[in-house]
Amino acid sequence: MNKLLALFCLFFSLQIVAQSAYPKDYFQSPLGIPLQLSGSFGELRNNHFHTGIDFRTQQKEGLPIYACAEGYVSRIKVSTTGNGKTIYVDHPNGYTTVYAHLQKFDSAIAAYVKQAQYQAQLFEIELFPKPNELPVTRGQQIAFSGNSGSSSGPHLHFEIRETVSELSVNPLFFGFDKLIADTKRPAISSILVHPVSENACVNGTREAISVNLSLQENGNYIADPIKAKGKIGFSISATDAFDYAYGKNGPYTIETCVNGNRNFMFTADKFSFDEVRYINAYIDYSRLKKTGVRYQRLFMNLPYPLRNLQTDIQAGIVDVQTNLAATYRIEVADYAGNKTAVDIPITYDPKEVIATAKPKTELPILKYDIENLYEEGRFTVSVKPLTFYANFPILFKATDDELEFAADDVPAHQNVTISYEADHLTPEIFEKSFIGSVDGNRLKFIPTKKQNNKLIAYTRNLGQFRIGLDTTAPNIKAFNIKEGKWISKQQTIIFIVSDNGSGISKYEGYINGKWVLFEYEPKDKSLTYFIDDSQLVDGKNDLRVIVTDELGNSAIFETFFHRKIN
Ligand SMILES: [Zn+2]
Repeated sequence: MNKLLALFCLFFSLQIVAQSAYPKDYFQSPLGIPLQLSGSFGELRNNHFHTGIDFRTQQKEGLPIYACAEGYVSRIKVSTTGNGKTIYVDHPNGYTTVYAHLQKFDSAIAAYVKQAQYQAQLFEIELFPKPNELPVTRGQQIAFSGNSGSSSGPHLHFEIRETVSELSVNPLFFGFDKLIADTKRPAISSILVHPVSENACVNGTREAISVNLSLQENGNYIADPIKAKGKIGFSISATDAFDYAYGKNGPYTIETCVNGNRNFMFTADKFSFDEVRYINAYIDYSRLKKTGVRYQRLFMNLPYPLRNLQTDIQAGIVDVQTNLAATYRIEVADYAGNKTAVDIPITYDPKEVIATAKPKTELPILKYDIENLYEEGRFTVSVKPLTFYANFPILFKATDDELEFAADDVPAHQNVTISYEADHLTPEIFEKSFIGSVDGNRLKFIPTKKQNNKLIAYTRNLGQFRIGLDTTAPNIKAFNIKEGKWISKQQTIIFIVSDNGSGISKYEGYINGKWVLFEYEPKDKSLTYFIDDSQLVDGKNDLRVIVTDELGNSAIFETFFHRKIN
């Protein structure tokens, strides 16, 4: 057995040990219904790997959510984006369970959050209760399931993290796999082979080509033989499905071997939050942008840190030399052990290939491993080393108030800094100006700092930018109240709020001069007050709502209503 293979055998047996080290029956289900998944751990999402699992909630909100084990609420977040309303519970065994996109919190937690919101006079809030403040027992209801934050349908996003390292671990390691039926094998929709080295070619071409697959009786595939020369690599578009799920999810492992020697492995086991964005280096990002399909690369061209990838010293690349006859095998598996394999025969092709002359770009190359600075007129763009994953041609062009800093489908790992010298603007105009990104006919607001007559914005999205001006206040419309009306039977007061310029940044509501909690939901633009009679007086009540945009333009809506209080 060669050294490399030995190393891999060691790695694989370590993996098995690692999985069995997780407690299998410590955590109970967070839901009281049969478990069905609509999202798998590690599946490929926009700019991140999915760091949890998504439980279906019967297409509705309001199901009780239970603490999976004893512990205490260590963190609570209320946000109109991301995970929405979220609870974190620390357990004495060193793990933290996370429950996200909640509709609302249960009793003691709800009261705790409400008190903090009134103290801060803010709806969006993040709290870190002390261990003795909100203890929970195993199975205690802590919340109701919902659809809050950046969620596009009711479900429970659930995570298990190592409390100290904050690494998110595949929840199926903890015995949840026994509660979720999965008898379907992963599906392979397409495999591509890429020439990697400069003179490499595949089937007579220097472009990536698709591999022709034939389905065998046993459900595996055999590919048409590939004739190649030089260094080549493969990529795959593969999905997995659970038994009771309509969507396509991600596989648990993808491993590849050359003549039986493993050379690459992807495992959806653990992620740290500072590495999940490297998904854009891992997948074929430009193909995703062009075709909408995510191909996972089974080789690494330039290095990037992702702990869930293991490769040989060739980083998964196959070097096709004289007389090589090899079988390249890809095995895709789900957590339940269902597998689909593909065998791809590779032979050496001595033929010379004349490269089709690529249109030469006149654009300068942005070198990804050094600092880059672009200056023209009033604009400066500065790019820190390793902001991008590879070199690429960049278009940089600036006019009076427009900037182009653009490239074809290139993902940024960090922000680039755009600054604009604005000393020619009057203080009034400067105050209401921002750097926006051009999106069709719209100018999208980018949070813009103002410093020494400069506008400064940070962004990961390349493209076209323009200096924008926002002097228009947001719009406030009453949804279910009318001035002077009796609303004794209503449970809510709702306004619909919008802003066509920079977007809504702040919202406040006052009843009889006192701040009251309005909950903002950007998905339907609603601003909702849940009526609490202890905050009202019998008869006439004054109501004032103030909504402010990102540039400080405020709209005020003043009205009054009547309510009978017993
Ligand atoms: Zn999720």
